[in-house]
Amino acid sequence: MNFDDTPQEAAFRAEARKWIQANAPKDLADELGAAGTGRIRLRETNLLEASKKWQKKKFDAGWATISWPKEFGGRGASPIERVIWSQEEGVYGKLHGPFLIGQGMCGPTIMAFGTDELKKKYLPKMASGEEVWCQLFSEPSGGSDVAGLRTRGERDGDDWIINGQKIWTSGAHYSDYGLLIARTDANLPKHKGLTMFFLDMKSPGVEVRPIKQASGEAEFNEVYFTNVRIPDHQRLGEVNNGWTVSLTTLMNERMSIGARVATGFPEMFEFCAQLMLEDGPALDNPTVKSKLASWATRTSGLKYTSYRAISSLSKGERPGPENSIGKLVAGSMLQDIATFAMELQGAAGVLTDPAQAEAAAQFQAMFLRSPSSRIAGGTDEILRNIIAERVLGLPGDIRVDKDVAFNKVAVKGR
Ligand SMILES: Cc1cc2nc3c(=O)[nH]c(=O)nc-3n(C[C@H](O)[C@H](O)[C@H](O)COP(=O)(O)OP(=O)(O)OC[C@H]3O[C@@H](n4cnc5c(N)ncnc54)[C@H](O)[C@@H]3O)c2cc1C
Repeated sequence: MNFDDTPQEAAFRAEARKWIQANAPKDLADELGAAGTGRIRLRETNLLEASKKWQKKKFDAGWATISWPKEFGGRGASPIERVIWSQEEGVYGKLHGPFLIGQGMCGPTIMAFGTDELKKKYLPKMASGEEVWCQLFSEPSGGSDVAGLRTRGERDGDDWIINGQKIWTSGAHYSDYGLLIARTDANLPKHKGLTMFFLDMKSPGVEVRPIKQASGEAEFNEVYFTNVRIPDHQRLGEVNNGWTVSLTTLMNERMSIGARVATGFPEMFEFCAQLMLEDGPALDNPTVKSKLASWATRTSGLKYTSYRAISSLSKGERPGPENSIGKLVAGSMLQDIATFAMELQGAAGVLTDPAQAEAAAQFQAMFLRSPSSRIAGGTDEILRNIIAERVLGLPGDIRVDKDVAFNKVAVKGR
């Protein structure tokens, strides 16, 4: 592993830094810097508007979706340049939230399976942030096992008619388009009768119902489809080959989520460094010290694991399934850290108002958000399965329904 920039990487870093210093929304820097894991709220600015503004500015100057080809709104940058860019973008990268799914997952899927016409029409506006996309995969009966989904797509002339329900769709309430996978042939085994489409989220028959989270926010949704028409030219890939298409989306999901899972350790260390307990400074307390030491060790492990991935990107290699460990370790650490921080606050740990609670209630927000990082983009158990099967070479899960026609699979209540 070599952690130093090559001369070419150093030149790229200097150019990116100079542009960011001259153009970033500095008025938001303090608020973005103080926004902890689990909550970004701007006092006087609408977060979505601020995000779109920064994205458009980057796009106009050639700094948006930098690893995409130039013709689709990117810069043709290498994966390592993308890593350098995000290191330099720093707190302003927190404004990227609304575009993560579109640019990180839907865009690469369209690039791989869309026609040239579709690519030219949709990718530049996705890159500029003018159009936001969401991912309509999970359903009440198909989450970890996406191939268990039941939303139906039936051919009707040049259109497909979609009926069913998706759930946990992040950003559906502000998205312009959605990438949707539906069952188009229930006589085939579950992975074989699926087809991928994209649709205009304002299409008649699409109903978006926000899901209120424990934090009080509503960032994801249920989405219902009642006789929604999708033209066949908005199909991605062959009919009944949607599973293959979805693997491209899901592989990109793992890569983009895995790269940005927070641990909460820097916030926790800073909090403890200032905290006074009944018997003296928190940093002198043996329990606190022991926990911090253990989290510091794991943080170092994560850092060097991610450096290993960055180093392999730099050499033009693709990070492998071993990277599943990053989200697995970071997700449970985030939850442990938030829980312990609230315990240290005693009875006041139940306060959630940033004006009243310690550390502006960032650990309370982190606590409420932390379970989701152990679910989204692959649950802990699924990541363990990946590590067991693809890294350690252990025997795979038993999949009894693999070759059975979907409408013959025994399901409770059918
Ligand atoms: C914050 C957040 C944002 C999300 N955004 C989106 C989005 O934008 N679009 C979208 O389509 N989805 C989204 N999701 C959904 C997410 O992909 C699913 O929640 C996830 O895949 C798990 O599926 P599930 O909730 O149906 O749980 P299930 O799959 O029903 O799992 C329930 C439990 O069973 C365990 N389990 C399941 N299968 C196995 C197995 N084979 N071996 C061992 N254990 C197993 C799981 O680990 C889990 O503990 C989001 C989720 C979250 C939390």
